[in-house]
This record gives sequence, C-alpha cells and structure tokens, in this order.
Amino acid sequence: MLLVDFFAASPAAFVVFALILGLLVGSFLNVVVHRLPQMMQRDWQVQAREVLELPAEPATPRYDLILPHSHCPHCQHRIRAWENLPVLSWLLLRGRCSACRAPISKRYPLVELACGLLSGLIAWHFGFGWQAAALLPLTWGLLAISLIDADHQLLPDALVLPLLWLGLIVNSFALFTSLSDALWGAVFGYLALWSVFWLFKLLTGKEGMGYGDFKLLAMLGAWGGWQILPLTILLSSLVGAVLGVILMRLRRHEAGQPMPFGPYLAIAGWIALLWGGQITDSYLQFAGFK
Ligand SMILES: [Zn+2]
Repeated sequence: MLLVDFFAASPAAFVVFALILGLLVGSFLNVVVHRLPQMMQRDWQVQAREVLELPAEPATPRYDLILPHSHCPHCQHRIRAWENLPVLSWLLLRGRCSACRAPISKRYPLVELACGLLSGLIAWHFGFGWQAAALLPLTWGLLAISLIDADHQLLPDALVLPLLWLGLIVNSFALFTSLSDALWGAVFGYLALWSVFWLFKLLTGKEGMGYGDFKLLAMLGAWGGWQILPLTILLSSLVGAVLGVILMRLRRHEAGQPMPFGPYLAIAGWIALLWGGQITDSYLQFAGFK
C-alpha cells in the first residue's frame, strides 16, 4: 500500500517508474515481435501437415517466448543478464555482440526507448490510477502489433483478441466509456472496415486490407467506444498518407508494394484514446459548431 500512496503523492515518481517499466517491457516486446510470427508459422505448418495427412515432422527443440534463451544469431553466444539491459547494454556494447563483435540492430534499443517513452507519456497524461494501469498494457500490445504487421503484414489474433476483451472488461467499470458504447464500438469498428473491404472488392476485384484490420479497429472501439471510430479512421488515413510519403522518399517501399494498415490504425486509435475529446472539440470550434 505504501508504494500506492507514494505514486499517488508524487506524479513525477510515477512517470519515472512507468518509463523504466516501459524500457524493460520493450526488451520483452523485441522477443515477442521476433518470435510470435515464427511460432505462428510453425503452428500453421503442423496444422497443414495434419490436414494433408502428411507424416508429422520430427520433433524440433522447444521454441516459444521463453526458450531458447536469447543468443547472438552469428556466434550463438548466450546473452547474459548485463548484456540484456534495455538501451544501456546496447550503448555499452557499442551496438556489437560481446563475443564476435557482429553488429546488433539499432532497432532493439529504439523499440525499448519508444516503449519507455510511450509508457512515461501515459503515466504523465493520466496520472496514477486505473486508467494509466489499463492503458499501459494496451500501449505495449499496440506497439508489438504494429511492428509485427510492419514486418510480416500479419495482425496476430493472439494479441488483438485478448486486448479486445480487456477493453470490454475495463469499460464494464466505465473506465473510458460506458460498457454499451464500448460494445457498439467493437461492433461498428469491425463492420466499418468490413464494409469498406467488400465495397472495394466488389468495385475493383482487389483486396485492400485484411480481416486483421477489422479486428484491430473493433479492439480500439472496445476501448474508446464507438465515438472514437470516425476520428480513428480519419487520423489513420492521415498518418498513413504522411508516413507513406516519408517511406516512399526513403525508398523503403516501392509504389504498389502492399503497405500494412495496422500500424496506422494503432497509432491513430492510441492518439484518439488520449486526446480524442480535445481534437474533436477544437475541430468543432474551428468549423464553427461550438
Ligand atoms: Zn556473436
């Protein structure tokens, strides 16, 4: 209870705590982002062999979020605890494996840093309380979901669906919106993109997005209620347009190459959850409605 009193009395201490927690979680998210898609791939292969009545592949060593232990992909050097400190270890090692000096991607410390900063921002924005406690895991989940979608054009149900349930559960206590608004947020979130998908497909014969995107918007609706959906869709196209131009300039993406929509939805939904009310108010004021 003492810690609770301390954080309630000192908002700055809570922000620092969330920042450090976020850095540590970011380190774990690197593992999730790297391994979850591979775990799914392995599952699908096993299932496909069963359906096709092919003999099962010989048993492979355990591969999940815990095992095998983190190691250097070049020399198999096992990462020791001090080499696994978020951001700090990467700086101390100057971005190289301690055994074979092979470079370690900048992406790992950057994900940790982003996770730390976003967590600190949640703590600062909401202060100590249930809203921050609920939004931290959502933020971590959205970060992992965005990175996996950017890497593989895949939105894992294993992350999206539990967070959808969590949104409904926290709003059963009216944490961000009423349970009824949250429920309709999930329903209309799914249906909004589902209808766009089918309209686009009927008109052009092409598929513009995936079913994962419908579930992701349903999940965001479950957290913020149906009211955040218009702003989320608007912001996601805006974020998509801006980042799309930047990515094309960097020539990472050739024109016509499929671009995942999940990260844009995730960023837009997160912004709408934190500042949706203010954004809508100033927009209405600007348009002369208030
Ligand atoms: Zn190495």
